[in-house]
Amino acid sequence: MAELDLDISSHRNPLIRRIRGLARRDSREAEGVILVEGLRAVISAIEGNHPIETIVYAPDRLRSPLAQSTLTQAEKQGAKLITTSAEILDALSERDASQGAIAIMPRPQATLANIPQKGTPLLVVLYEPQDPGNVGTIARTSDSAGATALVVFGSRGVDVFDPRAIRASMGSLFSLPVIEAGNSPNILTSIQKQGIKLVATSDKGDSNIWDIPLRLPTAIIMGNERAGLPAEILSACDYIARIPLIGKADSLNVASAAAIFIFEAVRQRYTSD
Ligand code: SAM
Repeated sequence: MAELDLDISSHRNPLIRRIRGLARRDSREAEGVILVEGLRAVISAIEGNHPIETIVYAPDRLRSPLAQSTLTQAEKQGAKLITTSAEILDALSERDASQGAIAIMPRPQATLANIPQKGTPLLVVLYEPQDPGNVGTIARTSDSAGATALVVFGSRGVDVFDPRAIRASMGSLFSLPVIEAGNSPNILTSIQKQGIKLVATSDKGDSNIWDIPLRLPTAIIMGNERAGLPAEILSACDYIARIPLIGKADSLNVASAAAIFIFEAVRQRYTSD
């Protein structure tokens, strides 16, 4: 497509300026939207039935049949499609070269009341995560284990839908419900009231991971990367579980620990011993 045929050919176009602004968390929160970069993430959002407001794309980067069918599908579901140059998209991208598309989506908003009611609940709960990469990795692990939902709470955590978290999740942040409980002190009590056991995790836990009955409806609570879980949360939980560490390291990365807990739950649920 010739440069002149593009809907947007200037870095100063208002939509491009808006997208640039949405790189900041406060702008995303003020507008109630998130930014989704790359075809794969856009496909996951569509498959997860999340509405898309606008897709800005570079036609010469999205020539494949998959890209074409994705754009058609998104347009059918109400997305506005806007063309621009690869150079303008590259300048907006978190990476050196964009993946040909950036979408603006309303922020997904799941609640405890509307999580799927099938199977035995397995919630993965993050307290004040500070690294978007960890959030995305844990979302991906939770999704791959068929977890019911991801819950994030506390006053100082990173934006769960930070573009780096979305990228690390490989689309999983759109495949399972994500409940943002903010600073609500009641979230753990609300989970407990649904008959779900609260399993806090800590390298100083008093029970070994394999002694915890994870076949029951369970919420696995992961702590902040630096400070772990505060005492009042630990004491509100039904169990405090540890992964025994044999070597010299005194704790695990939170995403590694989450993966071990989540798949220990899968192991217990899929074996009969
Ligand atoms: N110094 C912090 C503390 O006292 O908890 C270490 C935080 S650790 C790096 C981050 C989180 O990973 C912890 O809050 C916990 O959720 C999980 N974690 C790390 N190592 C663990 C272990 N050995 N057993 C259970 N959970 C662990």
